[in-house]
Amino acid sequence: MPVFESTAFDDHERVVFCSDYASGLRAIIAIHSTALGPAAGGCRMWAYANDDLAIVDALRLSQGMSYKNAMAELPFGGGKAVIIGDPVRNKTQALLEAFGAYVDKLGGDYVTAEDVGMSVADMETVSTQTRYVSGRSQHRGAAGGDPSPKTAYGVFLGIQAATAFRLGNEDLSGVRVAVQGLGNVGRHLCGYLHDAGAKLFVADIHSDRTALVREQFGATAVDVNDILFHDVDVIAPCALGGIFNSESIPRVRASVIAGGANNQLATDEDGERLRERDILYAPDYVINAGGIINVAFEYFGKGDDQTVKSRIEQIGPRLTAIFAKARDQRRSTNAVANELAKEKISAGAG
Ligand code: NAD
Repeated sequence: MPVFESTAFDDHERVVFCSDYASGLRAIIAIHSTALGPAAGGCRMWAYANDDLAIVDALRLSQGMSYKNAMAELPFGGGKAVIIGDPVRNKTQALLEAFGAYVDKLGGDYVTAEDVGMSVADMETVSTQTRYVSGRSQHRGAAGGDPSPKTAYGVFLGIQAATAFRLGNEDLSGVRVAVQGLGNVGRHLCGYLHDAGAKLFVADIHSDRTALVREQFGATAVDVNDILFHDVDVIAPCALGGIFNSESIPRVRASVIAGGANNQLATDEDGERLRERDILYAPDYVINAGGIINVAFEYFGKGDDQTVKSRIEQIGPRLTAIFAKARDQRRSTNAVANELAKEKISAGAG
């Protein structure tokens, strides 16, 4: 694939193709911008059907990280790594070490952490090769550890802000929420929603994950092909991206979309399609910033869990401001958020 001509290419500063024959590592590290600081963003391991899909994912996710970090007011630019392979079958210590060595060669321009298919233990292995890694084990009260529960907390607060704006009530008791994807973020989110009295509908391609959430939180299991179109108040996507497009949007019945997955919209125009249908969309990189906030405080060795929590609690008001501006200007929420993020990055670059 010609990278420069890809629609996902957005003047990225650097795209590194990493190959290590001995361990089988094939990875792409995309650095979108270092205008506001080192390009930070997690590493995803996924069995991409072909290399082009992996390249597009790395390009789009790293751009999203620039926007996410700027909106969360973190001293980070945006980057992302993808490792091509099945995390269950292909992840080995040697592969993670080879990845860590590549991160190290970038001399701190890219800071990695965990994303889909990666864990705290994996980041510990990566850290044997480089110090440019976060999302490692947490030490007594200090910021750090698995970012997923923090992401879930921010998403939960974002759902409250969205329902307050759209349904006129922040109280989630009895509100019907469909959660797609019950991995690290989705499962924790279900816990928060359950405690707040929401009625849960859930789906995951791994039936054991669905069974666990049914048991733990009394959730109702829904077919994976139907979860986005279920008759609920809120859809919380917590799996993979590109799910809202010209085909899926007309079938959505919820009036709020607010979840943790990155790159939920297939294209920016899909934000406008949601607006036309009067569906309130919480821009993904604003609502799911809890994890990177945790990563940033850990990486810079500052603050404790309480500091992280109070920074995450700014996500709700930040979303409300975007919702209000989008309503007043009759624009999509993602267009408003993109504009704000670009302004912050330009100001930092200047
Ligand atoms: P994960 O791998 O732990 O969980 C993803 C889950 O989605 C898995 O259980 C998987 O089986 C399921 N899934 C995949 N395709 C599905 C489908 N079509 N239908 C239903 N379920 C499906 O990953 P995670 O860390 O929970 O991340 C979830 C999403 O949130 C990703 O898009 C990730 O980039 C984003 N995100 C995560 C964090 C974090 O802190 N982990 C932070 C920001 C954004």
